[in-house]
Amino acid sequence: MSDQEELKQHFAQRVIHQAREVLEVWQQVQRNEWNASYHAALAEANQRLQRFAERFEQAEHHQLALEIEDCLEDIDDNRGRLSSEIIATLSQLIYRLARTGLQNGDPRSPSAQVPSLSKPVYIALEDHERASHVVRQLEFFSMGARAFTSDQEFLAAMHLRHPAAIVMDVDFTGPGEGLKLAERVQQGLEEKLPLIFFSRQDTDTPTRLAAVRAGGLELFTELLDASSLLEKIEIYTRTAYYEPFRVLIIDDSRAQATHTERVLNNAGIITRTLNEPIQAISYLAEFQPDLIILDMYMPECMGTELAKVIRQHERYVSVPIIYLSAEDDLDKQLSAMNEGGDDFLTKPIKPSHLIATVRTRAERARNLKARIVRDSLTGLYNHTHSLQLLEDASARAQRDGTPLCFAMVDIDHFKKVNDTYGHPMGDRVIKSLALFLKQRLRKTDVVGRYGGEEFAIVLPDTTLENACRVLDEIRQRFSEIRFPAQPADLSCTFSGGITQLTSSTDVKLLSQQADEALYRAKNAGRNRVVGFAAVT
Ligand code: GH3
Ligand code: MG
Ligand code: MG
Repeated sequence: MSDQEELKQHFAQRVIHQAREVLEVWQQVQRNEWNASYHAALAEANQRLQRFAERFEQAEHHQLALEIEDCLEDIDDNRGRLSSEIIATLSQLIYRLARTGLQNGDPRSPSAQVPSLSKPVYIALEDHERASHVVRQLEFFSMGARAFTSDQEFLAAMHLRHPAAIVMDVDFTGPGEGLKLAERVQQGLEEKLPLIFFSRQDTDTPTRLAAVRAGGLELFTELLDASSLLEKIEIYTRTAYYEPFRVLIIDDSRAQATHTERVLNNAGIITRTLNEPIQAISYLAEFQPDLIILDMYMPECMGTELAKVIRQHERYVSVPIIYLSAEDDLDKQLSAMNEGGDDFLTKPIKPSHLIATVRTRAERARNLKARIVRDSLTGLYNHTHSLQLLEDASARAQRDGTPLCFAMVDIDHFKKVNDTYGHPMGDRVIKSLALFLKQRLRKTDVVGRYGGEEFAIVLPDTTLENACRVLDEIRQRFSEIRFPAQPADLSCTFSGGITQLTSSTDVKLLSQQADEALYRAKNAGRNRVVGFAAVT
């Protein structure tokens, strides 16, 4: 790198620093409540971002900063308040900002893309070799990581820069020492860092308790594989913050509903109000709330009756329902809870109490849902849920008149991998492909594990031509991966079949078509992607 380029890189880093500040303000809003000082802090950080981005020719950052400024103006027009639309737009912009890398003048040079906001992960394991191995694996999936061998080294790094997350061996430099070190580090921090513990042995409850007390969010035992680790880190560092909660309010009183909306919007929560309870089920399907706030007494039906109807739908069995009512008869409250409710709040309610209740309930429901709808090996959506999401996305595409593609992917000659290298190695390949797909597709795409070594992908807003191009590029890159193995390194390929939704296709037909295209890809020699339209 020439001096000039190096200087440019150095200044460009400032853009990243500024982007991070914008991000941090928004993260704080998610934990507190919006107010004028957050508004000012966000505007200021964003203006600096805009200036630096312009000066150091970071077009994408500059564009995002301009759009964030538009949002801030919308807030002004809304008398300084957040609204559901603004929250949705703003969090989307911030999410994009978090994923935007630096560009240096020449996009053809391989160093043009520097992974940006992703701070590194600090890995402190008793087994240094294992630590370096984890670092290499994480880097392969473009997450920076650094391994440590001593307390001093770790503390020095912490002093210089905070990581995205810490992975700490409970026995880092001696039995139980890792626990102490992590606790000590966290104590000095205003904002706690995501902390993941590791223990070489399956541990007993006292150790688990100690890990929780030291601020650990997870405890991995025995195995520490990059894909589950990455998944956790992503949950704790990104999705948890940037995906605002969604709350459906069902209340026949507009005044009460508006008040509830205001309080929740102010906390960065997206809301939607329904004044006629009869429409609840179709609203639920479309809005997909994390939580429902239900009025107890409505002219058309009782809140408890509606709760029962909602619970009859398997999809909504675990969506928390909170009753909001002036009812202060404890007996009546208790019987309402017996009928499908999770909590009972009495009007008038303190805003902070309402916000806290909604946040905790919604958070827990999200975690629970993640366990139900995900496949445990890969963390991808399972078969049933993938199809459900395909159905939702198809309905949306048909309504909006946008294209949608559905793809099926199957690893080639996978039996041979199992036979030659063993089942655990096979599992590793499956997990790697899962992670690879997730990392290389858009956030709006759905990636599911359809079965054994088969994956299903839903690509909204995508034409067949584009879907084929994107998947083919992923296919190409995946075939270049060398998995370290004995007796020789291993590489794998996959085949894919894709089809595009038309006005006359339903979900069943879609998966038949994708399956048929996949079959043709296999027949034509594997390691290729075939589009359904192209074969008819
Ligand atoms: P083709 O190129 O035609 O797809 O050949 P293939 O060998 O991949 O085809 P087939 O579908 O017949 O074999 C898939 C194998 O994948 C069979 C099964 O033992 C293995 N498998 C399924 N699920 C898992 C899993 O979770 N882990 C591992 N390691 N293997 C699995
Ligand atoms: Mg196969
Ligand atoms: Mg198969």
